[in-house]
Amino acid sequence: MPYCHVAVNTPLPPLTYACDAPLPAGARVLVPFRRRTVVGIVWCGDVSPEIAAEKILPVQSVFDETPLPESWRDLAAFAARYYHFPLGLTVFAALPQRLKETRPCPAPPPAYLYALNESGRAQAEPPRRAAKQQALWRALADAPQSAEALKGIHKGFAPVLADWRQRGWLAQTVREYAVPPPVRTLNDVQNHALARIAQAQGFAPFLLHGITGSGKTEVYLEAMARVLASGKQVLFLLPEIGLTPQLLARLRRRFGEMPIAVLHSQTAAKQRSDDYLRAMSGQVRLVVGTRLAVFTPMADLGLVVVDEEHDASFKQDSDLRYHARDLAVWRAQQAQCAVVLGSATPSLESWHRAQTGAYALLSLPHRAHRGACLPHIGLVDIARLRRDEGIAPAVWQALRDNLNAGGMSLVYLNRRGFAPAVFCGDCGHTFGCPHCSAKTVLHRRAAQMRCHHCGYSRAVPDACPDCGNQDLTAIGHGTQKIEAALRQAFPYARIFRADRDSIRGRDDWQDVYAAAEAGEADILVGTQMLAKGHDFARLNLVAVLNADGSLYSADFRAPERLFAELMQVSGRAGRADAAGRVLIQTALPHHSVFAAVQAQNYAAFADAQCAERQAFALPPFVHQAAVRADAPDFAQAHTLLARLAAELSPQLPPSVVQTGPAAMLMVRLAGRERAQIFLESPSRRDLHRAAALWQHTLQQHCPAHTRWHIDIDPQNM
Ligand code: ADP
Ligand code: ZN
Repeated sequence: MPYCHVAVNTPLPPLTYACDAPLPAGARVLVPFRRRTVVGIVWCGDVSPEIAAEKILPVQSVFDETPLPESWRDLAAFAARYYHFPLGLTVFAALPQRLKETRPCPAPPPAYLYALNESGRAQAEPPRRAAKQQALWRALADAPQSAEALKGIHKGFAPVLADWRQRGWLAQTVREYAVPPPVRTLNDVQNHALARIAQAQGFAPFLLHGITGSGKTEVYLEAMARVLASGKQVLFLLPEIGLTPQLLARLRRRFGEMPIAVLHSQTAAKQRSDDYLRAMSGQVRLVVGTRLAVFTPMADLGLVVVDEEHDASFKQDSDLRYHARDLAVWRAQQAQCAVVLGSATPSLESWHRAQTGAYALLSLPHRAHRGACLPHIGLVDIARLRRDEGIAPAVWQALRDNLNAGGMSLVYLNRRGFAPAVFCGDCGHTFGCPHCSAKTVLHRRAAQMRCHHCGYSRAVPDACPDCGNQDLTAIGHGTQKIEAALRQAFPYARIFRADRDSIRGRDDWQDVYAAAEAGEADILVGTQMLAKGHDFARLNLVAVLNADGSLYSADFRAPERLFAELMQVSGRAGRADAAGRVLIQTALPHHSVFAAVQAQNYAAFADAQCAERQAFALPPFVHQAAVRADAPDFAQAHTLLARLAAELSPQLPPSVVQTGPAAMLMVRLAGRERAQIFLESPSRRDLHRAAALWQHTLQQHCPAHTRWHIDIDPQNM
C-alpha cells in the first residue's frame, strides 16, 4: 500500500497516511487528525512508513484540483527552514483562507470569448424572436464577445448561450490579452535602467534608487510590460498603504484589460483564493499585492518588483515572521529572473548589498517631470518656543499664507487619535493600558481611551481614579486634535483628515483623493497614510509636527526610519511645476538626521549610517536573530531564557555572540511580558545553526504558561 507525508496545520512535521494510489505532491487532501478531519497538503506522495503500518490512518479524500506546484512547495520549505518555523504552520500561513477549509475550492474558469462558429453563422437568425436574444445573436455574429459584454446586452445570457452551444453554434476561445503600447516615452536615465533590467539573464537583483517623483514606477511598468508581453508572469509587491486607487488606476491605464490579481489583507476570501488559483494556473499574469502576495504560486514567473522596499510593513510580526522582500528575492533566484527593489530611501541592508556588488545599483537622480524641482526643507526649532495647539507660529503663518495664496497644505503627524495622553493635573495620575507598557490615547469623538498596541479601550473617565479630580487634561496632539484646531483657526478652509480612524475602506480613500486631486481640499491632516506615494498637483506645503519621537528610542534603526519617513513626506510637496516647501518642527535641530534630510542626500546619509553600523557591529554587518519568550510575568520569561542560554552557550558556533536575556523595548504587550536574547554572527550559517539549537531546545523545554518564538532578521527591539 502506498504511503504519503501530509503537512497539516500544526507544529508537527508532516504526518504519514496511507492512500490507495500514490498521490501527487502538493495535492490538497482531507485526513483524520486527533479525532477530527482536517485539510492537509501532500508533501511527499510516495514514502515508506517509519511506523507500524497498522497504526497509519488512511487519507480520507483528495480534492481534485491541481496540486500546488513544486516551486511553491520549495518556497514554503525554504521559509520554514529560514525562519525556524514549523513546516505545517508555514504551509498554512502561506495559503489563502478558502484553501484551508475542508471543502473543495475549484479554480475559477478562465475568461472566455464567445463567437458564432460556422454552423452558427449558417443559421440566418436565432431560434427565438425575443429582442434580447436577437441582440445577443447579432453581437456574437459581429465579433468575439466577453461574458461581461454579453451581460450588458442581456442579463440572463448564460442559459441562452448554453442552449446555443448545445446546438453546436458557438465557438469559445480563451481570451488572449495583449499589452498595449507604452503611454509615454521614458527619459534617458529611465531608459538606461529599463535596458539593464530587460537585458538581464537569469537571476539578476537590482536596487532602483530614485527620489520620489524620479519615475521609478514608470520604469517598473515598462519592465513589467516587456515580461508580460513575452507571456511570463510578474509579481509586484508594495506596502499596504501603497495599494491605492491611484496606483491601480495607473496599472489599468498601462495594461488595459489584462486581468490583475490584487491581493492584500482586505481582499475578500473568495476573490483571494480565485486570484491565487488563477495565478497558479497562469490565467492571471500580473499579481499585485502586499506582503502576503509573496506566497502566490506562479507557474511562470519572469519578474519580481518590490516597491518601497525599505518599508517596515513587508515584515510580518507574528506567527511566521517573514520578510516579504527577502522572500521575493529568493523567489527571483528560484525562478532565475530579475528582481527590482525600488526606493527613494533603500533599507541599509539593500544599500549595503548594492555597495558590495551583490545587487546592481540603478539610479534615477532627478525628478522626471520637466521643471519639477526639489522642495525646500526648513527646520523649525521648537525647543524653547511656545506652540499653539502643537503648531509653532512660523508654521501657523506658513499655513495661513498658503491658504490665502490658494495652495494645498499637508499637516503630517505620526499619531492618530485626539491626544496621546490624558493626565490628572492634581495628582499626576496618567492613564496607561492595563495590558501593555503604553499610554492609552484619547479618541474624543468616540469618547474612548484606546490602546494602539492591543486594541484595549475604555470610556473616558469622568474623574481621576486616584484623587477624584474631575479636571483631567489631555496632553500632546493627535490628528483629531490638530484637525479641530485647524478647523477653528481656518473656518472656511476645506480640511480633510486621513488616518486609520477616519479611513476605513476604499470609499473613504476615494473621497479624500477625489477632493485632493480635484483641488477641492485646502488642508490635509494625516499620518503615514498620506505620506506615501500620492501625487496631488496643488500640494505645495508640508508641515511635519512631531519629527523627534523616535530619536529618543534605543532602536538603532530609528534614524534610518525617520530619514525615510521625512524624505517620503517631503516628497509630497511641489511635484508639478513649482518647488514645494517643507517645514519640520523639531526640538533637536542639530541632530545629524535633519542635516541629511535638508541636504536630501540619501547616499551620504546611508554611507554615514553604514560606517556607524560597521563600527558597532550591527546589521547589515552582522546577522541577527532574536529568541523571545513571553509570559504573564516577566520573571518567568526571563528565567527560562537565562537558564537555556547558560545551557546552550557552550554548544553555539564560536562566531555567534549571544546577549541577554533582557526586556524588550516595550516589555508588556497585551497582558504578557517579554524577554529576549539576541544572537549575532557575521556568518549566516552559524547564526542559523544557533537558531536551530534554540528552536530544538525550546520545543522541548518550554513550560505551559510561557510562549516563545524566534525572529530571524528582527526589525524591532
Ligand atoms: P516615482 O515612482 O519614482 O515616485 P513616478 O514614476 O510616479 O515616480 O513618476 C513621477 C511623476 O512623473 C508621475 O506623475 C509620472 O507620470 C511622471 N513621469 C515619470 N516618468 C516620466 C517621463 N519619462 N516623462 C514624463 N513624465 C514622467
Ligand atoms: Zn494595550
